[in-house]
Amino acid sequence: MPKTQYTKTALKEAIAGKLQRHFACEVEDATKDQVYEACALVVRDALTEHMIETQNEVERDGERQVHYLCMEFLVGRSLRNNAYNLGMLDALTAALKDMGFEMADIFEEEADPGLGNGGLGRLAACYMDGMATDGVRGTGYSIRYEHGIFKQKIVEGQQVELPDSWLSTGEVWQIPAMDETREVKIGGTVDTYFDDNGKLVVNYHDYTPVLAVPYDMPISGYGTNNIARLRLWKAQSPIALDMKLFSSGEYLKALEKHALAETISMVLYPEDNHREGQSLRLKQQYFLVSATLQDICAKHKAKYGTLENFAHKHVLHINDTHPTLVIPELMRILMDENDMSWEQAWNITSQSVAYTNHTVMPEALECWPVSLVQELMPRIMQIIYEINERFCKELWNYFPNDFQKISKLAIVADDTVRMAHLAIAGSFSINGVSALHSEILKERVFTDFYKIYSSKFCNVTNGIAHRRWLCEANPELAELIESKIGTGYRTHPSELQVLNNYADDKELLDKLGEIKRHNKQRLADYIKEHNGIEVNMDSIFDVQVKRLHEYKRQMLNILHIISLYHKLKDNPDMDFVPRTFIFGSKAAPGYAVAKKTIQLINSISKMIDNDPAVRDKLKVVFLEDYKVSLAEIIMPAAEVSEQISIAGKEASGTGNMKFMMNGALTIGTMDGANVEICEAVGKENIFIFGMETPEAEALAASGSYEPMVIYQNDPVIRRVLDQMIHGFGDGVDYTDIANLLLHGGNGGPADRYMSLKDFASYAEAQERVSQTYRDQDQWNRMALINIANSGRFAADRSIAEYAQNIWRVKTNFAF
Ligand SMILES: *Cc1c(COP(=O)(O)O)cnc(C)c1O
Repeated sequence: MPKTQYTKTALKEAIAGKLQRHFACEVEDATKDQVYEACALVVRDALTEHMIETQNEVERDGERQVHYLCMEFLVGRSLRNNAYNLGMLDALTAALKDMGFEMADIFEEEADPGLGNGGLGRLAACYMDGMATDGVRGTGYSIRYEHGIFKQKIVEGQQVELPDSWLSTGEVWQIPAMDETREVKIGGTVDTYFDDNGKLVVNYHDYTPVLAVPYDMPISGYGTNNIARLRLWKAQSPIALDMKLFSSGEYLKALEKHALAETISMVLYPEDNHREGQSLRLKQQYFLVSATLQDICAKHKAKYGTLENFAHKHVLHINDTHPTLVIPELMRILMDENDMSWEQAWNITSQSVAYTNHTVMPEALECWPVSLVQELMPRIMQIIYEINERFCKELWNYFPNDFQKISKLAIVADDTVRMAHLAIAGSFSINGVSALHSEILKERVFTDFYKIYSSKFCNVTNGIAHRRWLCEANPELAELIESKIGTGYRTHPSELQVLNNYADDKELLDKLGEIKRHNKQRLADYIKEHNGIEVNMDSIFDVQVKRLHEYKRQMLNILHIISLYHKLKDNPDMDFVPRTFIFGSKAAPGYAVAKKTIQLINSISKMIDNDPAVRDKLKVVFLEDYKVSLAEIIMPAAEVSEQISIAGKEASGTGNMKFMMNGALTIGTMDGANVEICEAVGKENIFIFGMETPEAEALAASGSYEPMVIYQNDPVIRRVLDQMIHGFGDGVDYTDIANLLLHGGNGGPADRYMSLKDFASYAEAQERVSQTYRDQDQWNRMALINIANSGRFAADRSIAEYAQNIWRVKTNFAF
């Protein structure tokens, strides 16, 4: 499909026009935020036009649509992305230049919408980009959180959380659709009976009505007019104020009822890979699910007059178990509001829902108390009970008389609802997010389910929006690539493979090194400005950025850094390849160990920076407020990518893919998608270390792991842990962390994620990194091979697999 051409002159005119109409100002008097807003409005006009065209097309051809439900969409900034996709980035840059503005400064005006915690939300955003580009008819659904993930400040080395208000500059990308407002019923009671015609009647009493108002973000695709729509629901009270209460003098009560409804979309829960048991969270989940399904069903019925063909026309994809209530909610709509029988409703539901599992961490598997589900959505609980009863009967056929097994696999047991079991029972497809993770699901986490429903299980390895993470974030690298292999890789990322032919092209490798240096300089400037730390440009930029979680083992990295510090202190003149260790990470506000780990990084950072004997060779930097826009600066500058989770715990990882695509070399365990990265680049182009999954699992299961023995036998580790107990010269005590490693705590065993066990192997791999870096030609060659083989980790490939193997919808993407 041809796209509109945008010239510099036309854009200048359009921007000036917006400035005049919206701010009553001339270009000469406009501030940067006004210019940003004007640019956004110009780009938005193009997008809305395309969105209407796409909607009309969907309406016309009636092909199967994909509805992607996720509690998080970490979309990142929109202006540059949309300008790039629409093919107007160069013209816009030039237009702004003429008007006296730098494009980069204007981009900085846009808030980075934090509607997600980390990988899960970012994945959903990358998939929107893929769906738009590959011509999949996709709509994403989530909540329009007033406050996204908190803004992180580091004060005296510690994380402080501040509210993030992104709406002021983010609102421009959202188009309200008031006429498609839905009503969600929360709480109250229900009574059900069969009327004289044998028809089920459900009456609701005393519930709280909450309005769901949709705001649509058009997500552009590259080189196409196809738009994927992200529909964000805002919760609103239908009653402006309860006047009856108000006039009877109950002023506070009147306001309270009003406020309670609106709290639902007030804030994103900041826990990553952890279940949140609060009732507001469950309300949020039901709010998302109910509004979304009512919306889809109402439109479907308006077109077809029936929901009988629902499963032919729609796929409901649930990204993790958070939106699993789609299953009972669709049952409710089909039975209670459309007179279908249980069997008919179940056939439609279980042929419409597909489920992606994202974690094997037991503390992340969602379970809700029956009493809470009962209280907040009584009709849904009735339906879940019925699903459970029928499901257990089915299980009985496979495991006759095995009561223990059936209660283990049941959806409702011990007064809790197990969301993953409900998702498995009610969906036609269950997938993991990397080859290893999908195997673990089959062999360990869902073994018995796999025995029964083996054909439902599959794998789709995660992927990232390579246009955002490579073409836009690293324009110099993109230009170099395009000078060799053309621009085809933008829509056919596997074409990056052609770069393998240049592995011995000295000129290209030098150019690659030069570009890396420019990107390092940009990050160094950022660090100087934000941390006041001067980093050595000749040091290796070694980066671990991701949520702070014990299983991701930032601790292993820290232990190693302390050991390097000791080595340098003992022998300041040793031949040492300089390193800058860069961290960026948010900790869940209630996760004490994670927060203490951030403090530990900062204590070490300060100690080293104050020590003239080591500070030119070793440096530790903690970058505050890690988010998408910061990642876009970090990835192009990274030389080493730390992917060091204990094997078997990281479902996939996507940070690993962003780094690789930007030419960083991975030091990592055989975990998640690292396994496939290793396979793609070859063992000689990656630094693999540590236990593999079977060994790690066997050791954990045996109960025989004793980190104290390692402490006693390994003088390097002993000295590191002793220093933790001793402190780092700033008066902060880290005995608690040392104790957790040596003795356990919080109900867990000592060193639960076995950092000490993998330490020696990690240190040895890090030594290989340093030695390899001495040969810059070799290093650049390895970087090139990483870039060349990163195409398979593009979201376009993942989306094509979902489209072909799970959703059964057509896509323009060719493998
Ligand atoms: C990609 C990304 C993540 C995921 O990183 P992992 O290393 O895969 O955990 C988290 N946060 C942000 C802002 C990201 O861009």
